Amino acid sequence: MDYIAARQGQILVKGKDNFNISCEKKSEAGSVSQRACVFCGSRVVLYPVADALHLVHGPIGCAVYTWDIRGALSSGPELHRNSFSTDLREKQVIYGGEKKLYESLIELIDRHEPKAAFVYSTCIIGIIGDDVNAVCKKVSQEKGIPVLPVHSEGFKGTKKDGYKAACEALFSLIGHGNIDNVSPVSINILGEFNLAGEAWMIQEYYKRMGVEVVAVMTGDGRVERIARSHGAVLNVVQCSGSMTYLAELMKEKYGIPYIRVSYFGIEDMAEALYDVAEHFSDYPEIRQKTEELVADELSELLPQLTAFRNDLEGKKAAIYVGGAFKAFSLIKALKHLGMTVVIAGSQTGNKKDYEMLQDLCEPGTIIVDDSNPLELSKFVKETGADLFIGGVKERPIAMKMGLGFVDHNHERKIALAGFKGMYNFAVEVHASVMSPIWNLRKEVL
Ligand code: SF4
Repeated sequence: MDYIAARQGQILVKGKDNFNISCEKKSEAGSVSQRACVFCGSRVVLYPVADALHLVHGPIGCAVYTWDIRGALSSGPELHRNSFSTDLREKQVIYGGEKKLYESLIELIDRHEPKAAFVYSTCIIGIIGDDVNAVCKKVSQEKGIPVLPVHSEGFKGTKKDGYKAACEALFSLIGHGNIDNVSPVSINILGEFNLAGEAWMIQEYYKRMGVEVVAVMTGDGRVERIARSHGAVLNVVQCSGSMTYLAELMKEKYGIPYIRVSYFGIEDMAEALYDVAEHFSDYPEIRQKTEELVADELSELLPQLTAFRNDLEGKKAAIYVGGAFKAFSLIKALKHLGMTVVIAGSQTGNKKDYEMLQDLCEPGTIIVDDSNPLELSKFVKETGADLFIGGVKERPIAMKMGLGFVDHNHERKIALAGFKGMYNFAVEVHASVMSPIWNLRKEVL
């Protein structure tokens, strides 16, 4: 297959190509990358902080692009679901948008009384040079709440730079809350966004183990909980691409160690619980409760998966997701359903991630970094995949190519994390792959 020449090093076939995949670089101009912009990266991380004001400083299009961008649920306020914008026009682009930003912030804070405000800089702000820091500082002093600039000008890097800007904004909230009553057996969950209530399921597991969750960042997020998260003993990082940077910052300033986990699939979910139990090995009852929990959940789940496996055995899957860590879990989860992964790729994986991905995949699997619709369509055709697992931007590829699709991105409304999530995942995969619509497609073609 022909690729854009500059992308050759970012695509390899396991067992055939013998080089280290090239990654962690800016997208090739003209390749129409599947990646989102820096601003979108920040927005998806901070979006679930439900009692904060989120103000997009830029033209209305940036706000619309990320409006209600996650299926992140809140158990209380829902201020996060709005996409407030300063709606910059020609006049502000020429004369500056600071006045409009100041007035917008004052009006919105008076009207909604948020606990904090995030102000996202978009591309145009990077071009016209508004002093967003100064406006945020002034409003913060006047209104007495944290008003945090998020330096996420869309063009200034990759989606990962947006994650970093979001982590910096969160980090400035941390350290201001009272930690007197935090348990010595306590964790923060980082990189869990409460899609379809997943953070609630995961917190329930830890509760059953006897572990206190001080803050989830950012699922069902509350400013007050984030402010006291420096009191936790351990950070458990789920979406490592987005939140490892924050975990590093907290380790450096507060001495909190962190572990990387995944809540998707059977092995990884169990390991996420056992790793936390291991960290608190001075409390043997936690290990015991974890073993009981996992045994309970699996005795219910495993028999349920058998019927799906009978139908899905030998089917082929393509995976293209944001962070590579999720791809690892998906490969393992699909093995439980008897399926083989023939394409595995991510938007933001690093060298280590791709080594791990190669270890997990069968020979012949196409491994790809920062792909685009044309490449992905060709890969699907070449490999004869029966299922595509991705996000909103991969859905049209699957639909046009006539194969099943499972949404495993931040817009989804179905919980796929945890043991219950593994069952939901099997139902989704089965319904999509086995749909009779694909037989009709063959007849039409
Ligand atoms: S920040 Fe820039 S790249 Fe991102 S949506 Fe706005 S204009 Fe587009």
